[in-house]
Amino acid sequence: MTTPLAATKPPGSASAAIEKRPLERYVAPEKPSLVGLSRAALAEALGAIDVPERQRRMRVQQIWHWLYVRGAQDFAAMTTLSKELRLALAQRFTLARPEIAAEQVSVDGTRKWLIRLPGEVEGRPHEVECVYIPEADRGTLCISSQVGCTLNCSFCHTGTQRLVRNLTPGEIVGQVVLARDQLADWTAAGGEGDKRLVSNVVMMGMGEPLYNFEAVRDGLNIVADGEGLSLSKRRITLSTSGVVPNIARAGAEIGVMLAVSLHAVTDELRETLVPLNRKYPLRDLLDACRNYPGVSNARRITFEYVMLKGVNDSLADARALVRLLKGIPAKINLIPFNPWPGSKYECSDWAQIEKFSEIVFNAGYASPVRTPRGRDILAACGQLKSATEKLSARERLALRAMAMTD
Ligand code: SAH
Ligand code: SF4
Repeated sequence: MTTPLAATKPPGSASAAIEKRPLERYVAPEKPSLVGLSRAALAEALGAIDVPERQRRMRVQQIWHWLYVRGAQDFAAMTTLSKELRLALAQRFTLARPEIAAEQVSVDGTRKWLIRLPGEVEGRPHEVECVYIPEADRGTLCISSQVGCTLNCSFCHTGTQRLVRNLTPGEIVGQVVLARDQLADWTAAGGEGDKRLVSNVVMMGMGEPLYNFEAVRDGLNIVADGEGLSLSKRRITLSTSGVVPNIARAGAEIGVMLAVSLHAVTDELRETLVPLNRKYPLRDLLDACRNYPGVSNARRITFEYVMLKGVNDSLADARALVRLLKGIPAKINLIPFNPWPGSKYECSDWAQIEKFSEIVFNAGYASPVRTPRGRDILAACGQLKSATEKLSARERLALRAMAMTD
């Protein structure tokens, strides 16, 4: 049975709907995977195969290490566990990661995985994207939080997708585990050779993470766990379109870096780009940012601003942007709009992005412009195409020259 995804219009509003209804249907695999279970849930799983209670804590520690430090893909590899326990585990559980439906590798090293998840509706599988972007000083993995998105931002391809379901914590952690598998990025025996190709995680793929709060919280806390995948919370960024009531909660319960999809400096314009602004207007959003737990000059909030030609890219907009963010420890990320088939916007001209970024820069912000990466493989995909690469003015000019000779 399918759940109808009828778009719901807010009362009294004739304009585009703010939200679609999420899909409730989820078909769990027959044998559950241990990837993404909390320590408590792992202990329970051990209880289910009759591991005595007094042993469970130690066994959980051992399994955790095999899962998240060594990247074991098979119970047989877990040599610190008895053979009997390994067999008993294998009978009831798996170490399955999400399935890769397709992989694309760009000439610049960017890799995109199309990931197939359990469940299908009307013959269409649940799929999300996950992208690895190597840079000189880091490797960033962009992960998804939902299949599709319940929100309808007018410039975003994901927003047009009908299918929506929340990812489980296992599917969120599974993307990081899967990337480490694919990149052979696990710590070798003895702790040597930890290359850490995946050094940063950004939740900027498909979906609105703060509308899948518990799973995102539990998943990211596993990604940050110091005895496992061990990514510092300063190297994990969660991007939200502005689900105000969950911003403070995210700070308190997840504690990762926050990115906010701002995109406009007036409520009137933001409502047309990010319809959620009708529910949570700019004033409330910026208040939530000011009060984000742990925000400081060392832990700034990133404000994302997609550059849409003739829509939000005037120099008056740039000046208003700087005024609006006054007093908030902020970084500003200008994102060249990535068009998709049927999109009604164009990317701002490079010269305009330059002028815009100069105003932002002169106001004291680093004003990085995200460089399009993996151009050859990500052409049709919205937000996953970009990497947060800081460019100097000179580099930007060089890029511009390159673009003109394309
Ligand atoms: N739902 C969350 C996170 C996923 S989107 C959010 O909206 O923040 C990640 C970022 O990509 C957001 O800033 C989003 O506005 C931006 N984005 C979406 N579609 C885009 C497009 N076609 N071109 C450029 N950026 C886009
Ligand atoms: Fe959803 Fe973010 Fe796309 Fe808006 S920009 S539709 S919130 S994924």
